[in-house]
Amino acid sequence: MRIILLGAPGAGKGTIAKALMEFDGSVQISTGDILRNAVTAGTELGKKAHGYMERGELVPDTLIMGIMESRFKEPDCEKGFILDGFPRTFPQAEALKKLLKRLDLELDLVVNLDVPEAVILDRLTTRRTCSNPRCQEIYNIKSKPPTEDGKCKKCGWPVVQRDDETEEAIIKRLDTYTQKTAPLIDFYEKEGLLTTIPSTSSEEIVSAIKKEMGLA
Ligand code: ADP
Repeated sequence: MRIILLGAPGAGKGTIAKALMEFDGSVQISTGDILRNAVTAGTELGKKAHGYMERGELVPDTLIMGIMESRFKEPDCEKGFILDGFPRTFPQAEALKKLLKRLDLELDLVVNLDVPEAVILDRLTTRRTCSNPRCQEIYNIKSKPPTEDGKCKKCGWPVVQRDDETEEAIIKRLDTYTQKTAPLIDFYEKEGLLTTIPSTSSEEIVSAIKKEMGLA
């Protein structure tokens, strides 16, 4: 499948992407994960992106398109991809359209995960992430805690609160989403690709997506 997951920070894009990936071997492409790995590794990209990310602002479109252009060319994309956190602005959506055309690829579906703001705020402040760049399992101190001593149940690395999960950065990220990313819902509606799925359990969301794709 080739799909885009749209939704506010904390809407559950990462969790849904991982579940879909297990289902049919399509690869999750999370620009947030790619950027965080670049920051941890101290690469040029990481140095450029770090400040924006820490403040909860978007990284410039040109940097993001550079990442995506090379990512799509990697062989694991052949089975399909689930875009998680990209595109996030009109220029990115327009550039993606051109890029896919050039690569002769078509999108199947754009899924809008519609989650109430109160739920999002609660999730983001209680969310924790595995610090292992190759794992990045997501935890929640209320509903899915790590081990008692704060370690990842999958790989044993420490589970941490992300730099951009301070209250100030969270408010900024939600505001950025409303202003820059939410308008893409309309964009993909007009392209005839959009389906909106209300906030339910991740299992139900995954089944709704499979059904939409004619896979269930
Ligand atoms: P969330 O969806 O929870 O905000 P992500 O992991 O998707 O988290 O993104 C973390 C940060 O990485 C964003 O706040 C932003 O600074 C940067 N980022 C990720 N994807 C993009 C993108 N497509 N365009 C611009 N910035 C991005």
